[in-house]
Amino acid sequence: MKKEIAILGAGPMGLACAFYAIKKGYKVTIFEAAPFAGGMAAHFDFNGLSIEKYYHFMCKSDFDTFQLLDELKISKKLKWRNTSMGYYIDGDLYKWGDPFSLLFFKKFNFLSKIRYGINAFLTGKRKNFDSLEGISAEEWLKKWIGEEAYALTWEKIMHYKFYEYAPKISASWIATRMKRVANSRKSIFQEELGYLEGGSKTLIDAMVIWIKKNGGEIKLAEAVTKIEIFQGTAKGLLTSEKSYDFDQIISTIPTPYLKDILKEAPTDMIIEYSQIENIGVVCVIYKLRKSLSPHFWLNINDSRFEIPGIIEFSNLRKMDNDEKIIYLPFYMPLSNPKFQKDKDFFFRETFAYLKIINPDISEEDILDFSINKLKYAQPICDVDFKKRIPEIKTRINNLYIADTCFYYPEDRGISESTKLAKEIVQNIIK
Ligand SMILES: Cc1cc2nc3c(=O)[nH]c(=O)nc-3n(C[C@H](O)[C@H](O)[C@H](O)COP(=O)(O)OP(=O)(O)OC[C@H]3O[C@@H](n4cnc5c(N)ncnc54)[C@H](O)[C@@H]3O)c2cc1C
Repeated sequence: MKKEIAILGAGPMGLACAFYAIKKGYKVTIFEAAPFAGGMAAHFDFNGLSIEKYYHFMCKSDFDTFQLLDELKISKKLKWRNTSMGYYIDGDLYKWGDPFSLLFFKKFNFLSKIRYGINAFLTGKRKNFDSLEGISAEEWLKKWIGEEAYALTWEKIMHYKFYEYAPKISASWIATRMKRVANSRKSIFQEELGYLEGGSKTLIDAMVIWIKKNGGEIKLAEAVTKIEIFQGTAKGLLTSEKSYDFDQIISTIPTPYLKDILKEAPTDMIIEYSQIENIGVVCVIYKLRKSLSPHFWLNINDSRFEIPGIIEFSNLRKMDNDEKIIYLPFYMPLSNPKFQKDKDFFFRETFAYLKIINPDISEEDILDFSINKLKYAQPICDVDFKKRIPEIKTRINNLYIADTCFYYPEDRGISESTKLAKEIVQNIIK
């Protein structure tokens, strides 16, 4: 008889686990709390336009996504585009992210330019960041680029992404993230990013179809409420609908949810997961008639803004009728009162931002506006985080647990979730 595996979560990791487990001969059932698959990479209906709730792009190093696209026979959907980055500092827009922009950047003195350039170059070339464990990003960056350059470029970005956690964010996490984007280039002078025709839904849908066609089951809108453990072995699940028996259980849901589901596990095990903190995001999205800037990614350092950056998504993926899609992410701890604010609040705040950057934009240029909220959008990977990542194969027999922080120092990403899913199925489960 085929071994039966239950997978918690139909995000990219859960779906990829199912894909590789079915290929290996397992019988698979996925349980997903939401009424749709895709997790953080899911789309929503933006008044007739199916688009990512949260902006998604690909980098040249996303090899595991490329392999998956190939296995699903949808590689042709992957497109690349020349993109650029900008920096909006105190009312002025600067080009950013290539050697010429750095050379002509008026806000840095000559020494800062050299230091910044060397750090960016060496980080892009570095194979391994283990020696940065134990050091904060702030300390590491200040050492390389200097206090002044840090204050001008990184300080606000770190603050509006991590708030009180900012000073403790790990250097190896930041360095790995810098490397991923820095190496997604056509040449040293030209950044190149990727997207899927039809958005990340193209990949999610292809996995869903493949899984169902090959005997897997996906139970949507059926949240797992408890993992049943008997004498140190995971035996089954309780969901919002009923209870099930399984031979193996793989959880890919954000670890903060585990404390409610793992009530029968030893307390110290639950504490390990509870110690992994996350921040949430309120991601504002506009459909506009007018463009904001020529850049895909605009970093922000301006006292009038409370966001780390703006993503003009249509500068990567062209939209029908040349409509412009802009994302403005407000990352924040859930304790921040702003997280509870409504759509009108975010409209007032962000429309003011758009007008500051492009004063020609008026209310008539807004074709649509929406917000999407996520409680656990980004794990806090602070100093010495590596030491605190629990084993994927837990001490409960037949129970395997991972989420996006288990591939630290890599940042959360579709490719990284896919890679870990493959690793779990091929090397970790028995
Ligand atoms: C703002 C933002 C921008 C991003 N940009 C990019 C990008 O440009 N490129 C990129 O590659 N990645 C990007 N990502 C990250 C990418 O979306 C994630 O790395 C990826 O979706 C993680 O997949 P996952 O399956 O590991 O987790 P998730 O996507 O979080 O999936 C977990 C699933 O578990 C489900 N779940 C929760 N509780 C339960 C329960 N009790 N029972 C059953 N199911 C449950 C959730 O509903 C969810 O569907 C971005 C993410 C965000 C938030």
